Amino acid sequence: MNTQLKLAILADAAKYDASCASSGTERRDSLGGRGLGSTEGMGICHSYAPDGRCISLLKILLTNFCQYDCLYCVNRVTSNVPRARFSVDEVVQLTLDFYRRNCIEGLFLSSGIIQSPDYTMEQVVEVARVLREEHDFRGYIHLKTIPDAAPELLARAGRYADRLSINIELPTEAGLATLAPEKDAPAIKRSMARLRVHIDDAKEAAQASEAVVSMPRTKPKRAKAERFAPAGQSTQMIVGADAADDRAILATSAQLYGSYRLRRVYYSAFSPIPDAASSLPLKAPPLVREHRLYQADWLMRFYGFGHEEIVASGDGLLRLDVDPKLAWALAHRERFPVDLNRAPRELLLRVPGLGAKAVERVLAARRVRRLRSDDLKRLRVPLGKALPFLLLPDHRPRAIDDAQLAAKLQPAPVQGALFA
Ligand code: SF4
Repeated sequence: MNTQLKLAILADAAKYDASCASSGTERRDSLGGRGLGSTEGMGICHSYAPDGRCISLLKILLTNFCQYDCLYCVNRVTSNVPRARFSVDEVVQLTLDFYRRNCIEGLFLSSGIIQSPDYTMEQVVEVARVLREEHDFRGYIHLKTIPDAAPELLARAGRYADRLSINIELPTEAGLATLAPEKDAPAIKRSMARLRVHIDDAKEAAQASEAVVSMPRTKPKRAKAERFAPAGQSTQMIVGADAADDRAILATSAQLYGSYRLRRVYYSAFSPIPDAASSLPLKAPPLVREHRLYQADWLMRFYGFGHEEIVASGDGLLRLDVDPKLAWALAHRERFPVDLNRAPRELLLRVPGLGAKAVERVLAARRVRRLRSDDLKRLRVPLGKALPFLLLPDHRPRAIDDAQLAAKLQPAPVQGALFA
């Protein structure tokens, strides 16, 4: 099979993985003529798969052969899809070639499990090792790790990769046991815990290394501590393949952020796959559900919301018609209006339309003078959304009922595409 055909199969097989963001790593580049690549995004062609996912990294599987039978996965052993396998050298060459052509900013490498978890992980790590050690590749590398692989292999992976991820796959252990019986939820969490320890140790070592002056009249430099996945670890959860509701999904995310200090939890709306098992839904969940989960995730990480307060409805699902912050505000009208010039940061962060940056600007500006609605306009706060919840010297919101307010704040309906 030629490389082009393998690439077509193995890039297509990787598109179901949503966790391709390359943020958060250390700055590395090849300015000065040494090495190849950069972790900065400049000059990179960002492209999107037909389903809207970012594929700006070379996002491939080493192989889509797999001995496991996870029902939601197109690569499972019982799936009737064309199979292919790259060698380590082929992946290395492809990465370098695409990088030189400015098509990618790095590599996202995952794999089906062949022979054994250790054997597969060794191959994945070898790709990263060859890129870093033999080609001095300084671009971004994200390796998907295999939770059942030996801890030493995970430790080696962290030396070469910017980010490591282990997919939690499903929000509940019961869901995992039903849809991916060969996967072991405690083993996944054990591996996440190991990665967390390595990442924390590397950070502590970097902070503890003392700056030394090696030559007279030179700037003191810190000795380089051994790096370990500087962009941290992340995971992915499939949404809509099992019966878990948004409340359960957010509770799992909160636990993962708290216990393993993950950088990101990615939510991937389940895509129906060819020859799907009868226990899987026939239809994908609406993509807007995935979007609402990302918004809710943002609220937990940057806006001080607890996971338990974000989903208000009895069915455990986020509202699809309005974003979760607005939904919370509509369900807690008694907490509003908030006085923009007096309210504490925590309360301002809960005002719909006020983003985290806007809140910081408001806090800085109101130290100097009392803010009015014109000031909000200058801060580019969407007035239509924020004003019904704010009290200002020149504005007092009109009392209108919840239904009217929700209708007023919903985005204007868009004409559906005829051929979508
Ligand atoms: S182990 Fe990974 S590649 Fe293999 S079937 Fe399960 S999800 Fe798919």
